[in-house]
Amino acid sequence: MRRILFVFLDGVGLGPPGPENPLSSHDTPALRRLSGGPQWTRTLPETTASRHLIRRLDATLGVDGLPQSGTGQATLFTGRNCAELVGRHFGPFPHSATYDVLDHANLFHHVQSLVAAPQPAAFANAFPPQFFEAPRRRWTVTTRCCAGAEVPLRDLSTLQEARAVPADLTAEAWRDALQLDVPLRTEAEAARDLAATHRDHRLTLFEYFLTDKVGHDRTDLDAARLLDSLGRFFDELLDRLDPATDTLLVTSDHGNLEDGSHTQHTRNPVPLFVHGWAAPYFADATTLTDVAPCIIAALRGANGES
Ligand SMILES: [Zn+2]
Repeated sequence: MRRILFVFLDGVGLGPPGPENPLSSHDTPALRRLSGGPQWTRTLPETTASRHLIRRLDATLGVDGLPQSGTGQATLFTGRNCAELVGRHFGPFPHSATYDVLDHANLFHHVQSLVAAPQPAAFANAFPPQFFEAPRRRWTVTTRCCAGAEVPLRDLSTLQEARAVPADLTAEAWRDALQLDVPLRTEAEAARDLAATHRDHRLTLFEYFLTDKVGHDRTDLDAARLLDSLGRFFDELLDRLDPATDTLLVTSDHGNLEDGSHTQHTRNPVPLFVHGWAAPYFADATTLTDVAPCIIAALRGANGES
């Protein structure tokens, strides 16, 4: 069974190399492993091979202003240009004009219509009790997609059973900020648990947003520590995946982390890395709008071959 693991990184663009860009000033070998050698900067070469592809995707979506998560993520996870639909970039939460497409025609719906399995898609992030108990739950783009397609949200007990991954990988925030009794785990253990969920589904999504938080300077974590943590995660993940049956897809919704000279988003392109059998299906991807249709085409193609 051929599968896709989608690791979504919030707020990672391709900016000019330089001292203000942690993706060039701080060397992270695991990130260069994903790119086949080069650093994640504006000069990242676009490459196409049978099991490895790199693209620089336009995140502006033809709309003025700074790209935002609400419209950028809705575009990534539906294949519709949601910035155009709304008439501007909007975020971080989804705009009401995108509710219809998120609720009825998101990536998970498309995977479900392709694959005759009880639940072919998974969202691997774990959510704390505070999320489920909030009187007015703030649906993000991804949680809204799950609700629309009836993809279960994973909770504390799923996390304790190692069948979910905390958004910060280590569960440090669950212990420190949320005061929950959850054992810490290493980034490698988080990668192991994510790979296990991936093995049971045709499409698994994991969302990592600390990259955007660090870019906004809304956390004590500095960029170098963040990149080292992410590097340990990707190293283990790449070790566990078999390119013949697994595809790891990594992309973002807009730039932010790559420009340390300010705390705003950027209009830089975002990287798209596709490691594994599905790489050729992404050959024509040029914007955020193309990611979901390429995933669907790849899974449809895999259906035909199996
Ligand atoms: Zn942001």
